[in-house]
Amino acid sequence: MKLADTSSCCGCGACSNICAKKAIQMQSDEEGFLYPVVNEDLCVDCGLCVSVCPANMDKEILRQPISSYAAWNKDENVRFESSSGGMYSVLAENILDRGGVVYGAAWKDGLKLSHVGVERKEQLGSLRGSKYIQSDMGNCYSEIQNHLRKDRWVCFCGTPCQVAALQLFLRKEYDKLVTVDFVCHGVPSQKVFDAFLSDEETRKGVKVDRYKFRDKRVNGWSCTSTTSSGLVMGSGKRKDIMYDIAMSSYMNAFLLGKMSRTSCYSCAFSQKKRCSDFTLGDYWGVRNVFPQMQDVAKGVSMLFVNTEKAHSFMDQIAEKSELIKSSVDEIAAYNANLNQPTHRPQSRNNLKSLFLGQDYIKENIPSTYNRDLLKFYIKRLLRFYK
Ligand SMILES: Cc1cc2nc3c(=O)[nH]c(=O)nc-3n(C[C@H](O)[C@H](O)[C@H](O)COP(=O)(O)OP(=O)(O)OC[C@H]3O[C@@H](n4cnc5c(N)ncnc54)[C@H](O)[C@@H]3O)c2cc1C
Repeated sequence: MKLADTSSCCGCGACSNICAKKAIQMQSDEEGFLYPVVNEDLCVDCGLCVSVCPANMDKEILRQPISSYAAWNKDENVRFESSSGGMYSVLAENILDRGGVVYGAAWKDGLKLSHVGVERKEQLGSLRGSKYIQSDMGNCYSEIQNHLRKDRWVCFCGTPCQVAALQLFLRKEYDKLVTVDFVCHGVPSQKVFDAFLSDEETRKGVKVDRYKFRDKRVNGWSCTSTTSSGLVMGSGKRKDIMYDIAMSSYMNAFLLGKMSRTSCYSCAFSQKKRCSDFTLGDYWGVRNVFPQMQDVAKGVSMLFVNTEKAHSFMDQIAEKSELIKSSVDEIAAYNANLNQPTHRPQSRNNLKSLFLGQDYIKENIPSTYNRDLLKFYIKRLLRFYK
């Protein structure tokens, strides 16, 4: 069976999930990205795996949003805990109130990222917050199909390619499925993150068991502040290590696009038309578009309402959030990945030696990373003042 090649396979795992013969296993390559491997002895050439692949998807299903907003959750605590304005939690709680199941990316078995389903509001905290790694989908697609067949509400949030994969896997529309994607910069692999963490642990003497990519306690709403926390080795006491992006080679490299999956650099979903019911993201340009707007520093989401189904939720969503209309073009002017995929820099070719080698921090932090990052911020500032 001919599956997508490594340049276009997004690693969603839908092919492996749909195969009744269990002929497809997802296996990690040298950089840590998952790719399907077919056992030809078990394969019966049914073609299902090819039909659920987002790389083969008919791009006609991408839709222009019906309406778009600057938005944030009225619950200040949830907004603070979330990466941007906490709008994901508004959508997820709505589905839980209907007795549904909510799927998103959570840490499992320590700091391994995978998609899980939760049924109670107390569990939503584990899904909240962006984790800048590719999430392992496991058996999510079949689980979701089972819930839908039992006529339960399901809210699924993931990268646009994961949402597309779910829709292709299901092969029919379900009224009670609500899909949420986000504007996506690209996904690094779990293996690169593991290498970063292990280096962190050695340098800081802490066994890290919690990691927050965007912690508003450090720099407020930004992409520049992370916290790792865990037990100080030898003492048994817990410690939070909060740091700015200048000290995090991982976030530097992520923002500069140096470690994404190969397919991310030609992503067909990096555009204004969307495949999901709702699209979320950071409304980075909100201060320019609405200079008088108060309360921005706590985080503002951009929200696209893409389907009639999504539109039918808006009265209930409005009760729990602040919604200010803003056009798709206003929002996209400040959000690169609504216009094109992340550019693949030359240095992406060195991913293996840089991140999976012995001492990548020493190689990256002092010179090239800070220089590149400075350029990145100067460009941002220039755009801001223009
Ligand atoms: C890899 C990645 C790249 C992103 N790139 C951009 C970008 O370029 N521009 C932009 O505006 N926004 C980007 N975002 C989205 C942004 O970081 C926020 O998630 C979004 O603004 C929603 O914030 P929130 O406060 O509403 O919800 P939050 O509570 O912060 O979380 C949103 C949801 O995202 C899910 N999620 C978290 N990590 C992952 C993951 N790795 N894979 C799948 N689902 C995940 C969570 O489970 C939760 O359901 C990206 C997110 C991720 C994970």
